[in-house]
Amino acid sequence: MRVINTVELVPLIRKLTMKACIELDDNLIGALEESEKREESPLGKEIIGTLVENARAAKDEGLACCQDTGILVVYLSIGQEVVWQGNPLEEMVNEGVRQGYRDGYLRNSVVLDPFLRENSGDNTPCVLHTDIIPGDRVKILVMPKGAGSENMGRVQVLTPAQGKAGVKDFVVETVEKAGGKACPPLIVGVGVGGTMEKSAFLAKEALKRPIGERHREKHIAELEDELLEEINRLGIGPLGVGGRITALDVHIEVYPCHIASLPVAVNLQCHANRHAEAVL
Ligand code: SF4
Repeated sequence: MRVINTVELVPLIRKLTMKACIELDDNLIGALEESEKREESPLGKEIIGTLVENARAAKDEGLACCQDTGILVVYLSIGQEVVWQGNPLEEMVNEGVRQGYRDGYLRNSVVLDPFLRENSGDNTPCVLHTDIIPGDRVKILVMPKGAGSENMGRVQVLTPAQGKAGVKDFVVETVEKAGGKACPPLIVGVGVGGTMEKSAFLAKEALKRPIGERHREKHIAELEDELLEEINRLGIGPLGVGGRITALDVHIEVYPCHIASLPVAVNLQCHANRHAEAVL
């Protein structure tokens, strides 16, 4: 057993929140630079170049890489040998979020009641997901999610007869409908299987995978390649100005499902593909 006081989460979450909103990682920058070489539209090329320049400037200056610093999605994977002490865990996670947005001068974008829409003033609460893993460590990942790309996500429960073709049509149609609104070049997260809410969860899980990494199952990896090719034939291009590079990658996560259903969800991630992680 390992005893951890929940207060230890506060400085960690604070730091990760600021890091995620300010520093885009090398995996993304590398993918953007590589896509700039492949983009055929002169304006699209120029836009990708500006996105890379913006990312570098944000890191150098310690400023948010995008004005929409999102609602924060926090994942805690908790070792089953961990025993928590102290204040309620969710309160401490939100305290870290509060301090991160305050000290990083990050925009507060969370409203409390979704109908009354009063800003909470400190970007809390976050969306917290927890799961139990073997061991005595806690893995923390934070993902600020801006509305431009999040608003373009979709979920649908297909019938099994619609199969792979139905999934492909749904994913491509989602990207096409989003056009430039989701701030491409995108990372397209796809969740297939489970239930309605599980597929949506998987679609966001898919965004955690590094760009360029394929699913371990060959037939799913092939589907990722096919979808990437089809999406990049849509001609939406960087920020929707037209061009070859609409998506940097497509990641699919799957889960077993009912014999009579085929849930599919798409969670789009914009070029500000932000996340930061740590182990406690
Ligand atoms: S979709 Fe992404 S890049 Fe576009 S405004 Fe929102 S956070 Fe920023």
